[in-house]
Amino acid sequence: MPNPLFDTLFAPLATREGAFLLTGDGSTITGPDFLATIARLAHVLRETGVAPGDRVAAQVPKTPEALALYGAAVAVGAVFLPLNTSYTGAEIDYFISDARPTLFVCDPNAEAALAPIAARHGAALLTLGADGRGTLTDRAAAATADLVPTDRAPDDLAAILYTSGTTGRSKGAMLTQDNLLSNASALAAEWRFTGRDVLLHALPIFHTHGLFVATHVCLASGASMIFLPGFDADEVFRLLPQATTLMGVPTFYTRLLDDPRLTREAVAHMRLFVSGSAPLLAETHAGFAARTGHAILERYGMTETNMNTSNPYDGARRPGTVGRPLPGVEVIVTDPATGAPLPQGEIGMIEVRGPNVFKGYWQMPEKTREELRENGFFITGDLGRYDEDGYLSIVGRQKDLIITGGYNVYPKEVELILDDQPGVLESAVIGVPHPDFGEAVLAVLVPAKDAIPDLAAIDTALRASLARFKQPKALEILDSLPRNKMGKVQKAELRARFADRFA
Ligand code: ATP
Ligand code: MG
Repeated sequence: MPNPLFDTLFAPLATREGAFLLTGDGSTITGPDFLATIARLAHVLRETGVAPGDRVAAQVPKTPEALALYGAAVAVGAVFLPLNTSYTGAEIDYFISDARPTLFVCDPNAEAALAPIAARHGAALLTLGADGRGTLTDRAAAATADLVPTDRAPDDLAAILYTSGTTGRSKGAMLTQDNLLSNASALAAEWRFTGRDVLLHALPIFHTHGLFVATHVCLASGASMIFLPGFDADEVFRLLPQATTLMGVPTFYTRLLDDPRLTREAVAHMRLFVSGSAPLLAETHAGFAARTGHAILERYGMTETNMNTSNPYDGARRPGTVGRPLPGVEVIVTDPATGAPLPQGEIGMIEVRGPNVFKGYWQMPEKTREELRENGFFITGDLGRYDEDGYLSIVGRQKDLIITGGYNVYPKEVELILDDQPGVLESAVIGVPHPDFGEAVLAVLVPAKDAIPDLAAIDTALRASLARFKQPKALEILDSLPRNKMGKVQKAELRARFADRFA
């Protein structure tokens, strides 16, 4: 009886030789051991009343057991719903009331606070802590490791992942078994993963990057993982010698670059570094290449579609671009007003169609209709442009586009110039309300270490290189840009902060 996602990704662990997971404390978990944990947890899910199609929500620290819980949810045909570990009680209340899970698994430390929420929404509550223990695993200990997975069709839901909430309230993206499977095999092939690979896994597993991209390519290819609770530079440098590949958000790479231990020798044995979830500055790419000889491979995706484009494994990895569409995925650039495809070179809305594109937003039929066209194209909300060789560049989000006095300003164009100025580490350009212009361009600068940027000189440089309407009407200095756990700059937070600047 088939359960394609389980059969393809998890079942092969039964005959895997050697370690599947290595943890920071030096313990190893074999494929058969991991599969046995999945089976035991699956029995607990069934005993708790989780039926096929039911949601299993989890806000738990990253552990091998937490990953096994995902496998167990797939095994019993449930819909896995991981939640960001930084969500507060009030936020969890929203997600649980929205998703209506049959079972909610939380950190034992949060049990007292979250129990009333689970009770109010009719969800059973079990716990799983940072040590991989809790009422969930206590119950699993008594269960058998034999399991017959529940039948599923490729089009059945496997997960609901909430988007990061960068542009508004997080939306639950409904992902099918085939959405996940098609992308897993495309990426494993594209990035040449094999059973000899060891991925250093330091990403959170409540997000598509760490849960699906990273974990699935390893499951699909027979690779193993060094499974770390988070990104800690000491741990990364200690364990890097055992790894062959690393997947990270851009902040991983800037932190590695800030560390004197990043040398050519330290990473000479590595096969591949991948970056995504937020733009990797061309400067970071160049700095990493100069220091290590490795060209970071940047790819582009999102919760709703998994991965859409990737720089090539063989061939030029172009800094500042996210590469070409993955096999089987159509990525087009259209006129945001009419939806008509634009000629190569023009900036427009990125739209995506393929087996990776989600079913729609959970309980948001209108939002789904707005963003998912009848012909199957998903309107990503990202603006981009193709170069003459078919490489896509992300220009920014449509919601971050600034319209000042009727003119469009793409923040990235201004940011790229600001980032090049002496004494500037990075920048964020936003639109804020302005009585005459509607919106005014405002630039936030983060000084480089021990530097004081010369604002007058920067202003002169901007005047020399940008049309007047694109020039920021104010330059503000902040110690750092507000970022979420995935390293995404929170522009909405900046806009709120400077909303009254010209009022
Ligand atoms: P929300 O949809 O709730 O506003 P979000 O879009 O940040 O939040 P995610 O699905 O986690 O939620 O992130 C996907 C987005 O991340 C993409 O639409 C894109 O804007 C950005 N992104 C991902 N990879 C890259 C990349 N390599 N370069 C630039 N941006 C990227
Ligand atoms: Mg989004």
